Order: sequence, then structure tokens, then C-alpha cells
Amino acid sequence: MKKDMEPWQWPEAHWRALVNHVRAGRPLRPANWPGGARCAVALSFDSDHETNELRDGGESIGKLSQGQYGNRQGVPRILSLLKDFDVKASFFVPAVTALLYPDEQRRAVAEGHEVAIHGWIHERNSVLPLEAERDLQRRSADVLEKICGKRPVGIRTPSWDFSPNTLAITKEMGLLYDSSLMADVDCYELELDGKPTGVVELPVEWIRDDAVYFNMNRFAGLRPYTPPEGVFDIFRRELDAAYREGGLFQLTMHPHISGYRSRIWILEELIRHAKALGAGKDGGVWFATHAEIAKYVLSVG
Ligand SMILES: [Zn+2]
Repeated sequence: MKKDMEPWQWPEAHWRALVNHVRAGRPLRPANWPGGARCAVALSFDSDHETNELRDGGESIGKLSQGQYGNRQGVPRILSLLKDFDVKASFFVPAVTALLYPDEQRRAVAEGHEVAIHGWIHERNSVLPLEAERDLQRRSADVLEKICGKRPVGIRTPSWDFSPNTLAITKEMGLLYDSSLMADVDCYELELDGKPTGVVELPVEWIRDDAVYFNMNRFAGLRPYTPPEGVFDIFRRELDAAYREGGLFQLTMHPHISGYRSRIWILEELIRHAKALGAGKDGGVWFATHAEIAKYVLSVG
């Protein structure tokens, strides 16, 4: 539709329909967090591993080995840190990663963490036909359920890429939440064509994602452009402001990106800092999985 027109020629009804298809609806920003906490902290780890290479049809053995690092070193370093601080988090795992490393997912669940949907092979939803997208999303949930022993209740689309059909599929699957969109800093209810869906959005942002600062491509100009201290500073400021506002601090990290000796301290210092915020009289922070936060904001929203 309107393919023959330039955007500046579009009729108002057309651009309005595009903008309003998937939209932030009512805010889900509780006045209080559980246990008298002032702020909620939602840590997440996208265990892409080898799928980052596979999803584009890549066969680079070097890049696949970097994916394996995510399993051998990245996830174990993260899990042991979370255990040391007694903090629960969410792992978004493509089905292919889960099939390659079922024990990794079982360990995360056994240690109290959430495992949720992150596509089949980290495919881009926006290039998929509806039937293929629905099939992959359903099969991804089936694989995670079989491996983890419980059905996932949330989704983060690979690369946060959303097709015009993604939200309808998520709703028809009865999922509790999505965590791929960016219309707020706090949770909200997603609307589809102007109608509330009951699906909670836990919003993400590239600002709070390690990948944008640290990604590197040997054969292109892409290099890490922010030192670890700079990344920590950005994340800490986001956290401090969330605490001041009594809102949500949501963070996305990748085991194959942050699970390195020179970077893992960022996560450790952030957790330490968040715990110290709670040492004052204003109430602490509530570390919770994305599912726990979605459930809570819906129950009081
Ligand atoms: Zn991913």
C-alpha cells in the first residue's frame, strides 16, 4: 500500500495507521514496589551465542567460537556473580542456543532465574511471512518448555526487531509480557490498533545495552567506541535516575559481549551500587525477573 508514493505524499490516514498500529497504552508504574523498595531492577542477558552468526547464514568458525565462549565462559561468570549477590535475572534464549546448550538453561532455572523467548535462530521478524513468524515463535516456546520444565511467559524479539504481526502473535500465545520496545522508561500496556492487549511492555533501550558500545567487526569499520568505565557510568546514571524517580531500571547484556575479564566488573559494580542505594532510609531496590515485574505491575496497575 502506498508503495507508489513518497512519504511526503502519504495521506494522513496512512501515516496515522502506521504510527498507531503498535502503541504504548496505559502506564503501569506502581506507586510502591514490593517490600517497600523504591525502585525495580530488571537485569537481562540475551544468550545469543552462535545464533548471531547463524541467523545471517554465516559459517565463520571464528565467530562460532566466539558464540561458544558465551556458553563456556560468559554465562558461568554471570551466573556465579548473580549467585554471590543473591540476585535473580532473566535470560532471553533463542531456541537454537537452548538446543545446543540445554544444561546451561537448566542451570539458570535451577538457580532461580527466568528463561524466556528470544526467537528460533535470532531471525529478523520483520522479514518473515506471518505463518513462519507464528510457527517459529510457538516452536521456540515449546523448545524452552521442554528443556526448562516450564513454559516461558515472556518474549524479547531478536535484535528487538518487530514485525507488524509480532504483537498479535504474542497476544494469541497468551504471553504475559514483551521486552523489545522503547516508548517509555517504565512499564506500560501494549495497544494493537488502538485496543489494549493485556500484554505488558518492559521497555528496553540501546543506551542500556552492552552490545552497542562493545560490538566489533574485523572486516568492517565497526569497533568498540566506549571504554568499560564509560559504559559503567552510563548504566549507573540510568540506575540512579530510576531510583530517584521510583521507577524501573532495565538492563540488557550479552554473555558473549560482557562475560570477559575486563568487562564483567561492570555488572558486579552495578549490582553493588544498586544494593548500596538501599542502605539509606528511602527504601532499597527490588531485583526481580522480567516476569515478576510484569506480574506485579499488572496486579497493582
Ligand atoms: Zn539477541
